[in-house]
Amino acid sequence: MGSSSRRFQGKVAIVTASTQGIGFAIAERLGLEGASVVISSRKQKNVEEAVEKLKAKGIGQVLGVVCHVSNPQHRKNLILQTVEKFGKIDVVVSNAAANPSTDSILETKESVLDKLWEINVKAAILILQDAAPHLNKGSSVILVSSIAGYDPHPSMSMYGVTKTALLGLTKALAKEMAPNTRVNCIAPGFVPTHFADFITGNDTMRAMLEQKTLLNRLGTTDDMAAAAAFLASDDASYITGEILVVAGGINSRL
Ligand code: NAP
Repeated sequence: MGSSSRRFQGKVAIVTASTQGIGFAIAERLGLEGASVVISSRKQKNVEEAVEKLKAKGIGQVLGVVCHVSNPQHRKNLILQTVEKFGKIDVVVSNAAANPSTDSILETKESVLDKLWEINVKAAILILQDAAPHLNKGSSVILVSSIAGYDPHPSMSMYGVTKTALLGLTKALAKEMAPNTRVNCIAPGFVPTHFADFITGNDTMRAMLEQKTLLNRLGTTDDMAAAAAFLASDDASYITGEILVVAGGINSRL
């Protein structure tokens, strides 16, 4: 990634599930553009390694906190530590998701349905409930949905439905949090990460997905970071309640 702009100078950004993949790239981008960044994920070791990587890239203000997004104490601690260290919150990127099963919806166990709802939707709401009192005028929230929220692949149908819920949540929260906080969403296409490896790791599947794009390639984590950074920045100061599909032209909607 290469950006010489400093749109987040003096801003404080929290990114959940940010020790690798899309979340890490978003944290990196915001940090390189001047933000103090708070990264988090479930595993202490991953958090420590990601903090070091960001520091090695010249990002000075980085805080790493262990936060499993479905753990209430972890969520509260994430917000508390951020405010203690940096004094405020300007940007929250809710990026965590689980996709524990490839079963069809009618075969998905109740415990899996609960987990999908809890991590992909409920935790995003609860973390914003904790963060809301600290969000000032001009703040911004980014939810991370998916192209699967528009057109779920059969191997991830119920996951796709939770991502559809985030599209509605974007609209609802944008109304609720206006005018001080803008709420927008990115819907990534297919990006080779650990999370997507069960699809993009398969050569035949990968070629098929590449063909579904207009740009003949899968997405990169930097593609997603650029879109999230735009929506979170003042460049998007008149945009709220919107979903930006970042999928290389894969069909999503009119
Ligand atoms: P990834 O590369 O596998 O990274 C997942 C990150 O989330 C890791 O840092 C992991 O660290 C952390 N994590 C996992 N479960 C967590 C939890 N319960 N609480 C907190 N942190 C957690 O995944 P990714 O592909 O970047 O996915 C990020 C987001 O993009 C997800 O919302 C996903 O639905 C969305 N998305 C991805 C794609 C794609 O093709 N990759 C497409 C559309 C949408 P720990 O193991 O240390 O927790």
